[in-house]
Amino acid sequence: MTRQDNLQQLKDGSTYDLLVVGGGATGCGVALDAATRGLKVALVEKNDFSEGTSSRSTKLVHGGVRYLEMAVKKLDRVQYHLVRDGLRERHVLLANAPHLSNPLSLVTPLYTWLDVPYVFFGLKLYDILSGKRNIGHSRLLSRKEALRRFPMLKAEGLKAGVLYYDGQFHDARMALSLALTADQHGAAIANHVAVTGLVKADGTIVGAELTDSLSGETWQLKARGVINATGPFTDQIRKLDDPSATNILSASTGIHIVLDKRFAPPDTGLMIPETEDGRVLFVLPWEDHALIGTTDEPAEINEHPRPLDTEIDYLLRHVGRYFNLKVDKADIKAAWSGLRPLVSDPNSADTAKLARDHVIEESASGLLTIAGGKWTTYRKMAADTVDHALKQFALAAPKGCQTESLRVLGSANYDPSGAQRLSEKYGLPGDVATHLHSCYGDQAAKVAELARQDNNARLPQQLPLLEAEVLYAVRNEMAERVIDVLARRLSLALLDTRVAKEVSGRVLELMAGELGWDAQRCAEELCLTEKRLTEAL
Ligand SMILES: Cc1cc2nc3c(=O)[nH]c(=O)nc-3n(C[C@H](O)[C@H](O)[C@H](O)COP(=O)(O)OP(=O)(O)OC[C@H]3O[C@@H](n4cnc5c(N)ncnc54)[C@H](O)[C@@H]3O)c2cc1C
Repeated sequence: MTRQDNLQQLKDGSTYDLLVVGGGATGCGVALDAATRGLKVALVEKNDFSEGTSSRSTKLVHGGVRYLEMAVKKLDRVQYHLVRDGLRERHVLLANAPHLSNPLSLVTPLYTWLDVPYVFFGLKLYDILSGKRNIGHSRLLSRKEALRRFPMLKAEGLKAGVLYYDGQFHDARMALSLALTADQHGAAIANHVAVTGLVKADGTIVGAELTDSLSGETWQLKARGVINATGPFTDQIRKLDDPSATNILSASTGIHIVLDKRFAPPDTGLMIPETEDGRVLFVLPWEDHALIGTTDEPAEINEHPRPLDTEIDYLLRHVGRYFNLKVDKADIKAAWSGLRPLVSDPNSADTAKLARDHVIEESASGLLTIAGGKWTTYRKMAADTVDHALKQFALAAPKGCQTESLRVLGSANYDPSGAQRLSEKYGLPGDVATHLHSCYGDQAAKVAELARQDNNARLPQQLPLLEAEVLYAVRNEMAERVIDVLARRLSLALLDTRVAKEVSGRVLELMAGELGWDAQRCAEELCLTEKRLTEAL
């Protein structure tokens, strides 16, 4: 359904079983889980789907190698369970969204002999914990093999390497697919609609006030239960419910920089095992570019956090130490920042302690908050939240949880070898067919058909992106702003800011034609797009 159809549903005065607030990984996951159990679900997102943290991740589907190290070193069961759950969910995500995800091999370079057994046995344990869901066996690499796999590595002093496997995925399109799959299962979903108030009767939440940020219209929606899945904005919604509530959330920023593809081989990533602040750092092939991240610094909560020069210098400094190529600021094509929603568990005696897992909290008036966790475990978090909601709001769902084997939009009839056929059937160049096939999965033919009938021009000449994708995004994927297309339907703004700026006028023109924008709206869009691409995404 279109956004307009969804808005009509959201305004029809009926009572929803659940209203989910927030359209990131967590909220979209909850909406999909609840809708597929047969509940009547609404989901609203203040900005665009995944405009918050969920489009700014490292794009790894992982158990967390670092958590495993801590689990072993500190004999910590919680960390151990986190890794085990992560590895289980890695398998589920790769199976349910095969067009948007893939196994990725990663090299860990080792510069002292002492590290060799430590890292090798650690990664073997990671394999063992994956059990039958393992996606590739880790193994020791000779110095020569490590350099062959990741030729940008500094050879001097390199002793050996360890190869291991994790998953990689397209976070922004994954969140969109979850939202659109929820829509297919009957959920009423809308981006650019914020919860601006909670409605109570006798002290219990019975709905929310919604505001469409594009039209300014405000209305009330009735719901038996309201779920707060607003990530870094968790406390804002908790305070709409109870202004005296103490904060449970703190945020830390993580930035990424994107470089040209010559900084990473097309099929192998690099895990730098220990940074100066004792973390791991990744250099990954991503969308024909090299993605480097991330950092971890305490931060103010902000909708559009800006990468700081000190954070960029930190990444460049570390990469410089491991690379035989000179890397400097001039090589950066894009830089962006995301906020980690770190929660302290309100149910734990020590509330200052940050929870390493997700936290589900129920307020006195019935607001159900879900926060924390990571992208990889969004599905399990959603299932736990809906289980909790059924009890808390006394809802009877016709079906149990379906998402363990539920294929998301684009993957039901996805054929991994289908790009060639798409290319032949629609006369598309190979790079365009490959791009459409991996972005849209079994929906790619619809985009190709649109290109054939309407517009088969490339958006930027040097990339496999089509103008037809802009039309498709508006007609089928609820893209409402130029930046929705540039940053989340196409990821161009996260890959190359200069190219995104160059094509932004053309995207505006295409969207204005589709959506009937007047001169004032076009001017507003121009201004907002410029701001996002210049200041912070
Ligand atoms: C730098 C970094 C790298 C990461 N890398 C990985 C990784 O590689 N793998 C992994 O598994 N995890 C990773 N994570 C973690 C993962 O990205 C997050 O756990 C996840 O995206 C959080 O999703 P969320 O839905 O809770 O929050 P968000 O994505 O922030 O979504 C919350 C949404 O709520 C909306 N909202 C706020 N207020 C309102 C309102 N009043 N009304 C309506 N909507 C509202 C916001 O606009 C926002 O879109 C990373 C995190 C960071 C910061």
